[in-house]
Order: sequence, then C-alpha cells, then structure tokens
Amino acid sequence: MRAAIVEAVGKVSVTTVPDPTPGPRDVVVKVASCGLCGTDLHILQGEFAPTLPIVPGHEFAGEVVGLGADVTELSVGDQVAVDPSLHCHECRYCRSGRGNLCDNWAAIGVTVPGGAAEYAVAPVANCVRLPEHIDVRDAALIEPLSCAVRGYDVLNGNLGAQVLIYGSGTMGLMMLELAKRTGAASVDMLDINAQRLATATTLGCTGAAARAEELDRPGGWDVVIDATGNAGAIQDGLGRVAKGGTFLQFGVSDYATTAVIEPYRIYNQEITITGSMAVLHSYERAAALFASGVLDASVFISDRLPLEQYPQAIERFQAGIGRKIVVEP
Ligand SMILES: [Zn+2]
Ligand SMILES: [Zn+2]
Repeated sequence: MRAAIVEAVGKVSVTTVPDPTPGPRDVVVKVASCGLCGTDLHILQGEFAPTLPIVPGHEFAGEVVGLGADVTELSVGDQVAVDPSLHCHECRYCRSGRGNLCDNWAAIGVTVPGGAAEYAVAPVANCVRLPEHIDVRDAALIEPLSCAVRGYDVLNGNLGAQVLIYGSGTMGLMMLELAKRTGAASVDMLDINAQRLATATTLGCTGAAARAEELDRPGGWDVVIDATGNAGAIQDGLGRVAKGGTFLQFGVSDYATTAVIEPYRIYNQEITITGSMAVLHSYERAAALFASGVLDASVFISDRLPLEQYPQAIERFQAGIGRKIVVEP
C-alpha cells in the first residue's frame, strides 16, 4: 500500500510499504481521510514519536475492510472513526481512569503506524461505528473534536460564563462551537490573523479582535482558553481571568515555553489554572456530537489533498494556511 512515512527528523515522503495485518482483536480500516495537526509537526521535528520511521496520522476515519479472528462487533463495510489512544490499562493513571496521563502513553499515528496511508490497523475497541448520514471523509474531524470535548470536561461547567478564546484556528473554532453548546453567555475570539477571525464571526462568536484590550471587559472573563500554545497569548490570557475564573491551557506549547503567574492574585481571587491533554473518555461523545451536526465540515476542512501530496500538505500546514487540512488516499 501507499503510505506517508516520516523517515528521519525533517524528512517525510510517500512510499510503498507492506499492507498491515490485523491482530485477533484488530480491524483493518481503508482510510477515507486523515487530518494533519500540530502533533504531526512535532513528530517530524523528532519529538513525541520514540522511533522513526513512522507512518503518521492520528485523525482518521474510513471503511472496515478486514477483521481480526476474534472480532465480532464490526463487519466489513462498516464506516468507522478511530480513537488513536493506546493506553496501557496497567499503570496507576490508567487504573484510576486517567488513561490520557498513562505512563506508557502510546497512540496510533504517533508510536505505531497511523492513518496517513491507504490502510491502517486499529483495535476494535478504538473504533466507533458512524451513522450512515455522515460523509466518512469528514469524520477525521472527530479526533480533534474529542480533544475539545475533553477540554470542556476539565472546565466542568460553562453555563452562563463569559468565555475568551485565544486562537481562531481549527481548535479555537471547535472550542467556540462547544462553548455555544455548553451554555456560555458570550464567547469572544482572538486572533492576529484577520481571515481566521472572520471565520469565528461567521460561526457566531460574540466579539472578535486581534487583542483582548479591544474587547473592553476590564473585569476579565470567567473562562479563558488558550488554543495557541503561544507564550505571548498565554501570558496575556493569564491576566484576563475574572475573579473566581478558570484558565485552561489547551494549546500545545513548545517544551521550553514559560509564563509568569501572580500567586497573590491566584490566592486572593480564587483563580484556577488547569490543562487538558488529548482524549479521555471523550471520543464516543465527540462522534455523537459530530453526528448531531455540531461542526460544519465545509467550514472546518479547508483543504483536501491526495495522500501522494502529504509532504505538500505538511508544508501548507506549516505555513499556517487554511484550517483543517486532510489527505485522502
Ligand atoms: Zn491531532
Ligand atoms: Zn497506563
């Protein structure tokens, strides 16, 4: 089969590799589409993935074309989306229900071959069957949506909140859609890219600006979400949390990024600073939300490239062009 391969740091190509074979409790998925995200860039830069070469791609969906010997839950021809999480189920975090913090954390497309290929293997336990009305080519959006659902699990209640989101890229926009669904009183969006802000406005945000000071809310916001990973945005956002409010670190920073906190203010104003990491018990619900139409795929997927153009798709993503870029084998 054809597959994208990260051969070495900074080196990605599309080549022919052996077809994957399923274990007894695995299925083979014929990939319909596979999304690119910041994690793929980290892998290309030599972070996250312990061993290269690797077939990247952790955001994918497709059709079941092969079944392991002990799979009875799915049939050939089913359309499925795949939760890439591979938790060990043995460490103390897994055993306390926090598999996304697994000491032996692994994921399809990060530590084992992923969906940027014609076929991918996944445990049947990781597959969610999709209802027929969904175009499976859009279902690559379910994985990033499941990370956004996890973010709102951490926030634990948004009803009536004034929300501020830094970053109007794919993830910021997904957080916007969920903020609306979880009962935010208002959702203000920030981005220095006017085109991205325009999309946030199209999706119905309350205010849209390049900088928070333009939004005139001196008391701050009940919920401030960073969806950039950018040090400047994070530092600004920490100072915009209202009394009793919460700052959620949702964007992925470089390892070396730091920010300054004000311990007196955190104490005196009872401010919570928290984070959310990847997917935890949220994939199935993201698939249900997706099936209910929470995301307009024509807005969220800006580019569809053939698998053969995976390196060009990475370049386009690195250039910050568009929103979600998917490759289709
Ligand atoms: Zn991702
Ligand atoms: Zn574990």
